[in-house]
Amino acid sequence: MTASDASALVDRMIAVVPDFPVPGILFRDVTPLFSDADAFATVTAALSEPFDGAFTAVAGIEARGFALAGGIAIEQGVGVLTVRKAGKLPGEVLSESYALEYGEATLELRPSQLPPGTRVLVVDDVLATGGTADATVTLLERAGYEVVGIAVLLELDGLPGRERLASRIPVHALGSAPA
Ligand code: AMP
Repeated sequence: MTASDASALVDRMIAVVPDFPVPGILFRDVTPLFSDADAFATVTAALSEPFDGAFTAVAGIEARGFALAGGIAIEQGVGVLTVRKAGKLPGEVLSESYALEYGEATLELRPSQLPPGTRVLVVDDVLATGGTADATVTLLERAGYEVVGIAVLLELDGLPGRERLASRIPVHALGSAPA
């Protein structure tokens, strides 16, 4: 399997759901890629490939990033960090709030799970405005980790996600699609 096989799977197997969760949004449903064993193995391998050997932990963003992080972690022999929505983690947490189109969201991370300086790859399904990934990088850096890259299945054209992150962290996307 090659990177172009993975990109073809992303093009073919991510479902487009108009007007979900609100009118005007084209929701990209990646679950068909997750439920096909061969497709899942191919895309997780291709997601991490540019960074293989350069990271010793993979951070998944809740919730679809968790599945991707698990696949990469097993394949690469690294640990998983979970970046969670607010209020899900017990005990001490680091929190980072960021703006949504309407309102605000907060992500949280348990500190001190891995040694400072641990090199971490961030994974998620879709990169849109980049706010979620940007807040994730900030959280991981506040925890003392070094973020080596952000890998997503799909980036949405016409939104500032890549532009917002690229000056900070390398961005790897297997495919792109209209917002
Ligand atoms: P953003 O912070 O704008 O880059 O949004 C990225 C986060 O929102 C990711 O965790 C995605 O799972 C989710 N997301 C944003 N837009 C979409 C979309 N059109 N389809 C599916 N998920 C999306």
